[in-house]
Amino acid sequence: MGYLRVLELYSGIGGMHYALKESGIPAQVVAAIDINTTANQIYKHNFPDTPLWNKTIEGITLDDFNKLSFDMIMMSPPCQPFTRIGLQGDIADNRTKSFLYILDILPRLCKLPRFIVLENVKGFEKSSARTLLIKTLIDCGYTFQEVMVSPTSVGIPNSRLRYFLIALISAENLSTQTSSKTFDAFPHLDESESPLHPSFLSPTCISTGLPEEEIHSGLVLYKRESRMDAQRKMNQNHDLSVRQIQDFLEPQREENMERYLLSPKTLLRYGLLLDIVQPKCRRSVCFTKGYGRYVEGTGSVLQCCMETEIDSVFTGLDQLSEEEKLQQLLKLKLRYFSPREVANLMGFPQHFSFPENISTIQQYRVLGNSLNVLVVTKLLQLLLSSRPGHSAGDEDSAVGCSSSFCG
Ligand code: SAH
Repeated sequence: MGYLRVLELYSGIGGMHYALKESGIPAQVVAAIDINTTANQIYKHNFPDTPLWNKTIEGITLDDFNKLSFDMIMMSPPCQPFTRIGLQGDIADNRTKSFLYILDILPRLCKLPRFIVLENVKGFEKSSARTLLIKTLIDCGYTFQEVMVSPTSVGIPNSRLRYFLIALISAENLSTQTSSKTFDAFPHLDESESPLHPSFLSPTCISTGLPEEEIHSGLVLYKRESRMDAQRKMNQNHDLSVRQIQDFLEPQREENMERYLLSPKTLLRYGLLLDIVQPKCRRSVCFTKGYGRYVEGTGSVLQCCMETEIDSVFTGLDQLSEEEKLQQLLKLKLRYFSPREVANLMGFPQHFSFPENISTIQQYRVLGNSLNVLVVTKLLQLLLSSRPGHSAGDEDSAVGCSSSFCG
């Protein structure tokens, strides 16, 4: 196979491009398209030789697309219309317009791309946009696979459950077999049960695996979380197939990380809502674009002082004066993960970097919009190993998934 010509739509900071590089597939991104000037600056900084179009996708003509003569589309359409906490405007949301335009263009291209990779949030699988996507793919003769995957499936201690679709054009004489029923097969997935998660494949690991007494003695429900949440977190920390947070931290000494410490105001106001992890943990929650600005639900914070027991800090905290409360919370030395550490947890390679003028808050914002590079790398390898005429011997090993792609 020669070099694949790849079109990267909604390119952001190039998460898809990094995955393509890491996958080892001989390929060239012939155009990356995005309208976010900050993201584009970062993209250009890291991929100076890739043609980057600062244009709205719906403003690009069929003719322009045809001229690119691409073999693969990689895309992460805007996810706001589909998020569980959003308004779920779906196809009525203006931000879905460009995606509908792509679906309209696809069947009219002179040459259909052989491969398509799409990433979106959990929620997309129930959308009308997804229904239209599937219909278009079937009409065009694609075979496809849909999966919900979190980076924990590939050993990374970070939850980021996302919808992925990988599609392959069927060779004319091959029967078209779709697997649009993937979701029916996994109707009750949650963050810890993605279909590609090794523990999902090994039933013995699914149960808590811990005796009741240990659960009760180990769980202190000092924070505003349910017993089930606390138990789930403890189980995640016992999953040895996932690496420890400490493998993803910057090697610098902690003094250099003082700028990331949580302010007294944040500690007092949001102390009980924080998701706190320690270097030895094997979990962290999804980093969103609000990380560093908002606290609740935007990502985990790191406990840097291990001499203080977290339970001793939170037990009875409610009864203390503000000043005493603060003194207690300060003992833990809680800090945000640095953008570099968030990038590490999202599978970005060491050589990825930000231009100097991009602020820390901007860095968190674009990272929060991006994707887990390692997950997409594995999916790309799976997709390419499944193409017609290719021996699919190593299909399973690509993502540790036992479901075959081409059927
Ligand atoms: N995968 C990317 C992020 C995708 S987020 C990464 O790794 O960073 C969605 C991106 O779509 C955003 O960067 C946003 O600027 C871009 N976008 C949204 N609507 C667009 C449109 N109509 N045309 C071009 N880009 C668009």
